[in-house]
Amino acid sequence: MITTASDQDVRASVPLPPGSFGVAEGWGMLHRAAGDVYRPSTPEGVLAVLRLARESRLSVVPRGSGYSYGDTALNAENIILDTTRLNRILDWNPETGIIRLEPGATVEQLWRYTLEDGWWPPVVPGAMHPTLGGCLATNVHGKNNWKAGTILDHILAAEMVTAGGEHISLSRENNPELLGATVGGVGMLGVFTSLTLRLERISSGLLNVREEAVRSLDEMFASFRSHSPRADYLIGWIDGFATGHDLGRGLVQIATHVHDDPEPGRTLSARAQLLPDTVLGIIPRSRLWLAMKPVVNDVGMRAVNRLRYAAGSKRAGRMTRVPHVQFHFFHDFVPGWKRAWQPGGILQYQVFVPRENAPAVFRAILEEPPAHGFTPYLAVFKLHRADASLLRYSVDGYSLSLDFHATERHYAGLQRTLTGLTTDVVLPAGGRFYLAKDSLLDRPTARRMLGDDAVDRFLELKRQLDPDEVLQSNLYRRALRAPR
Ligand SMILES: Cc1cc2nc3c(=O)[nH]c(=O)nc-3n(C[C@H](O)[C@H](O)[C@H](O)COP(=O)(O)OP(=O)(O)OC[C@H]3O[C@@H](n4cnc5c(N)ncnc54)[C@H](O)[C@@H]3O)c2cc1C
Repeated sequence: MITTASDQDVRASVPLPPGSFGVAEGWGMLHRAAGDVYRPSTPEGVLAVLRLARESRLSVVPRGSGYSYGDTALNAENIILDTTRLNRILDWNPETGIIRLEPGATVEQLWRYTLEDGWWPPVVPGAMHPTLGGCLATNVHGKNNWKAGTILDHILAAEMVTAGGEHISLSRENNPELLGATVGGVGMLGVFTSLTLRLERISSGLLNVREEAVRSLDEMFASFRSHSPRADYLIGWIDGFATGHDLGRGLVQIATHVHDDPEPGRTLSARAQLLPDTVLGIIPRSRLWLAMKPVVNDVGMRAVNRLRYAAGSKRAGRMTRVPHVQFHFFHDFVPGWKRAWQPGGILQYQVFVPRENAPAVFRAILEEPPAHGFTPYLAVFKLHRADASLLRYSVDGYSLSLDFHATERHYAGLQRTLTGLTTDVVLPAGGRFYLAKDSLLDRPTARRMLGDDAVDRFLELKRQLDPDEVLQSNLYRRALRAPR
């Protein structure tokens, strides 16, 4: 049962800040949508935006930092509710590691606040700028998914407001079903206004990291099988250009927590975590993406992948101690690097496949797109476990994510190739896709992936909580909404 409190109790008492017309973009730069952007700084402001939408018969999408690759935080010609000013830390207990924050607080804000007290978020995505609200709405996972689960496994409670202005408290004890539907519910059942998270105790700001070179896809699976019982984090990188016997060759990073740090006072500080702002003391890191630009093409990326494999193979076996931030947020090393992929953008195709079927599926998705002229410039391999969210993407198995350079000229062909793989290879093998990264699913395919029961239940909850469909996104209309 869903318990609610009327919005009479919390009538918006603040004037609504003026909205401004703006164009929002998916992180992959392939999806754009114009709309009115509102940036409230209080929960009452959120209610006011929702009321304005109801009165003007417009729809609203909540948006965090816009780090989802596709169109889940877009809402063409309607309202975008930017949550980034709702970013206060509301409560912190350094004894228990329990923190309560507003949804616009970012992963970076979170770790900076708690690290010195010896606490780290139990699950983080590969970039630190996403908001916690966005992380919750997409149910993010980290490089420890097989071990720690997704953020749903660590959330103790959340507050949200529905499209009708009702306040709902969610927790494992109170509304557990709704908690599992809104976490991963891509903002379509309500807008989070706060969340309470249990963090992980750490005694050092460093991780022991060792790299292992693998010569084939079979060796990649074998490496994960052998290291997963003892590692705290595992991440595999694959050279997407390698073919034949070398198909799937790459590097595996095996990381464990450090328990004998001689200087925890130093390593548990933000200063020890971050890279310097300049490289070689003179080149601003913020300009490095310009140096990447000339190599973002098939010839350049083939060479980059080959060099990376060769360099990694040479280093293989050596243990280094790496700050958490540098290990987890690899994507933040070169700020704005995605701009090097313009013109065009990044289409990420990430498939999650049950253990027993993953080798055959991954072989097919590494072979098929290059045969049609589309080679992934970046390919990443991870180990997962299933979770209890209603629109679950994770499985007891593995994921492979492929970043394709999509230009206007290539997009249709790439889309055809990947859609063919989805229907003919991935779904028959029990595979799933992650809505935060998806650009391709249509309604029948999403239903086939998630199952009738899950989609029907989600839409039933949507009818109860948001009968007028005030909360909508481009992704919702594309992949989830009931046909009308
Ligand atoms: C370089 C890179 C690396 C990444 N690595 C990983 C990874 O390792 N693991 C992983 O799981 N993900 C990863 N992601 C995906 C990213 O973590 C998710 O897309 C996350 O949701 C982004 O948060 P955001 O604040 O940018 O949300 P947005 O992209 O702005 O929004 C995401 C969704 O959340 C909803 N939403 C936002 N705020 C609220 C709110 N307050 N209430 C209700 N709904 C809300 C939006 O409507 C939308 O559906 C990566 C993304 C990038 C770009």
